[in-house]
Amino acid sequence: MADEPAMTAGRRKSVARATKKKATKPALHYTVSMPDPASHTFHVEIKLSGTGEFCVLAFPAWTPGSYKIREFGKNVSGFKAKGAKFEMLDKQRYRISGDCTVSFDYYADELSVRTPHLDDTHGFFLGTNLLPYLEDVNGLPAKADYTVTIKPFKGWKVATSLKGKGSTFHTDNYDVLGDTPFEVGTHSVKSFKVRGIRHDVAFYGYGNFDADRIVTDTKKIVETQAKNFGGLPYNYYLFIHHITPDSGGGLEHLNSCVCAWPSWKFKKEEDYQRFIRLVSHEFFHVWNVKRIRPKILGPFDYSKEQHTKALWIMEGMTQYYERLWCARAGVTKPQMVLDSYAETIDREDNRPGRRVMSLEDSSWLAWTKLYLADENFMNTGVSYYSRGAQVGLLLDAKIRNATGGKRSLDDVMRLAFKRWGWPKPGFAEGEWEKLAEEVAGVKLTALWRDHVRGTKEMHYDEFLDCYGLELTRDKQGNEPWLGINTDERNGALQVIGVHADGPGRKAGLQPRDEILAIDGNKVSGKSFSDRVSDLKPGAQCTLTLFRRERLVSAQLKVATQPAGKLKLQVSKKQTPQQKRNFRKWMGPG
Ligand SMILES: [Zn+2]
Repeated sequence: MADEPAMTAGRRKSVARATKKKATKPALHYTVSMPDPASHTFHVEIKLSGTGEFCVLAFPAWTPGSYKIREFGKNVSGFKAKGAKFEMLDKQRYRISGDCTVSFDYYADELSVRTPHLDDTHGFFLGTNLLPYLEDVNGLPAKADYTVTIKPFKGWKVATSLKGKGSTFHTDNYDVLGDTPFEVGTHSVKSFKVRGIRHDVAFYGYGNFDADRIVTDTKKIVETQAKNFGGLPYNYYLFIHHITPDSGGGLEHLNSCVCAWPSWKFKKEEDYQRFIRLVSHEFFHVWNVKRIRPKILGPFDYSKEQHTKALWIMEGMTQYYERLWCARAGVTKPQMVLDSYAETIDREDNRPGRRVMSLEDSSWLAWTKLYLADENFMNTGVSYYSRGAQVGLLLDAKIRNATGGKRSLDDVMRLAFKRWGWPKPGFAEGEWEKLAEEVAGVKLTALWRDHVRGTKEMHYDEFLDCYGLELTRDKQGNEPWLGINTDERNGALQVIGVHADGPGRKAGLQPRDEILAIDGNKVSGKSFSDRVSDLKPGAQCTLTLFRRERLVSAQLKVATQPAGKLKLQVSKKQTPQQKRNFRKWMGPG
């Protein structure tokens, strides 16, 4: 990598001064304090050294794993550079006249896995959120010593995956620092070891969870994935769980992940299963996306959107595998995994957007489509997560069928890790597909053409045949259907989505219509689905609604729910080969 001007300037100075001292590597020492947590304001100081005549500090516009421009520089206030001059170059970059101490306040009041948060219960942030990087000549993070000292609020402690001593942590790679989560508070920590490597599980929040069960199951999942890859690619791993009433989502990091889950969604088995699947998902990203990744996803350019056609591999394959790891680890029953695949197929194969958007387009446009999905996205787009998981099903079965059950998608993942696993360079667009063909020993042209670059309907014969499965539709499920999604908003029952193929669309219903009555009888958010279930498919019904404060009525012909319940189960006529394939696929269970 080319030296940045700042580094060259710094080097010139040190060479002139003495031979004792080696060329100075720029260094940034961040100190993050939180003297008044209830103000939601972190205070950050950065001691800059070895930066030369000038340098540029830049706040990332986005954070890896979450493909949306979030403008982390927007939360900065009171920026100062003690002993130097500075000017703002744009919305997120500061040009500073050489070594000095920079300081600023950082407002953090958005509790999510990807944004900073500070209140009287804890502090949380990612490196990309509040630690600007030093720019190199290309505008990318420069090679420098990045040190972070956290000054926790009284009585609080720090959990992070970054190497360090006490509350001071260090790396010479901003991609590592930016990727690191810091949890500061009174969280509880449980630990386990896999292959001699320590794993910590930090719990922030409260709820009806059983921490011991979570840790036991997590350990099994880690062991299972480690077995597949023949080891673990780190020396320490940290799970951070944010458990609060309205939280949700997860974000993967190099040696850690953050999972957010609603406080009271642990007790029911199906809720717990969804949570542990999230843990399995985020953990699998240790390999898929944090190490196996397209070139553009590391090293990172944080200044603007980074487009790739491969997010369906990064997220779709991860969604496909998250359930398999749980089954192989004995944490989830195989039938539950089959049920979840059936649910995905049911939902995605009835989504009108499947005829419009390919997986590659969904990946490429993640920044402006999936991450900024509007009420019409179901009609014009697909999620590279779920649709990608469907391709995972088809592809895995195809490889097993082509190799007589000797090889599978597991081999593709192992080989991809060996070939492109970080810190090795990532793969070029299209290379992963070639590698899948290499493992399968056959051309997969039709699969890519139809389901990755194209929008053809999916057929499951080959998949069912591989494992000896049956896919049947529950004929009893003649549920009435209006083809609209609704939600209670601002005290009104609102249409929030209109299915392109449904009766609501034909009757001209629109997002934001407020539904008042069905056939003259008042309905509310609570009673709406019950009242719809009373309707008869084929019959007419009248909806009374407000449309921009004007009273209108719409005549709908009640249809039948297109996604009548799909069931995926093991056939009684499974052949020995199918049995073997199934066991290898799903594990001992
Ligand atoms: Zn993911």
